[in-house]
Amino acid sequence: MIALDTKRQGANEELEKAVEKAVDFHGHLGPFLVIGIRMGVIGLRELEVKKGDPKLHVAMTTKPSVPFSCTIDGIQAITRCTVGNRKLNLQDSSGDISAKFQLSDGKTTTVTLNPGKQEELETLISMHVSSQELEGIARNIILASESELFKIE
Ligand SMILES: [Zn+2]
Repeated sequence: MIALDTKRQGANEELEKAVEKAVDFHGHLGPFLVIGIRMGVIGLRELEVKKGDPKLHVAMTTKPSVPFSCTIDGIQAITRCTVGNRKLNLQDSSGDISAKFQLSDGKTTTVTLNPGKQEELETLISMHVSSQELEGIARNIILASESELFKIE
């Protein structure tokens, strides 16, 4: 029991550190930044690579407006696949937020934000919450389970 708790805490600490770095890059802590971070963490784990692996590139779709586009910076911060180094291919979508992580040997994994979760977040954000409340929502996403947030294929 104690071992399990320690392990869980370790994982959270790692995620917290990643969030801190991404916030420094992005400028603020918001829910969609954290969604991008968590998508990136899953992509690296599923493909068994570390950030910046030369074989890795990412193709993602998102709505082309803030706050949805904040997801892009989360993915860039975690994977080091960026618009600038041409390892991140961006496509606008009318709704879906999804990232396909690909290795040059053909291995892929796709992480998609659950439509229900996205709807929930859109509703919350449309209520003109304060930046403090937004941070609270972002913190909940740090703690949420992967299965609640994403479909992984
Ligand atoms: Zn943002």
